Amino acid sequence: MKTIGLLGGMSAESTAIYYRELNRLVRERLGGLHSAELLIRSVDFAPIAALQAQDRWDETGVILADAAARLERAGADVIVLAANTMHLNADAICAAVGVPFLHIGDATAAALKARGVARPLLLATRFTMEKDFYRERLRAAGLDPLTPDQAGRDRLQAIIYDELCQGVVRPGSKADALAMVAAARGEGADGVIFGCTEIGMLLGQDDLDVPAVDTSLVHCRAAVDFALG
Ligand code: GLU
Repeated sequence: MKTIGLLGGMSAESTAIYYRELNRLVRERLGGLHSAELLIRSVDFAPIAALQAQDRWDETGVILADAAARLERAGADVIVLAANTMHLNADAICAAVGVPFLHIGDATAAALKARGVARPLLLATRFTMEKDFYRERLRAAGLDPLTPDQAGRDRLQAIIYDELCQGVVRPGSKADALAMVAAARGEGADGVIFGCTEIGMLLGQDDLDVPAVDTSLVHCRAAVDFALG
């Protein structure tokens, strides 16, 4: 089994989901007491979130590239960044390491297409919904992503940073997210991307009448496929 280098802490809630799911998948595949070979570099999210808010992405890129290089030096065979937003720094990370980097957008696009989704609603941070890096990756894979309107994007940003990333799950926030899905269904959305690794804390497939792809779960599956493949 190869060693997965998990770049985490963005948020810690997200990394806990990855830790549980990576181990669950390895146990499912190998049985018994098997668990994932893992190295975790978990950063303090507060200074990174402050840089995000100021659009200082070159600086977050330096921090994440350094963290990824440390994971490689420690023995990681592959780098897995446990957050969608920070994939904005994917190029900086790839330039810093010699081992493969498993892009969350690729795992997500493949899962959407496998479920027959063409026009997914992207629920994510405002950076992931508004900047080009993520939607372009989906478009390059032949998908046509939709996003909530400005008020919806602002609300989702607050739900993610003020609640989910701090371990808080509120029924009112779930209702607001479901209202965004209903509005997008009216615009032809045929699926939903949980495009922030904490959204699975708030919504599940059972809440929806179209296929949902949880980016954290499909990313973990890609990592375990790599580690065991
Ligand atoms: N984990 C989140 C994501 O998947 C949000 C936190 C962050 O900005 O990294 O985008």
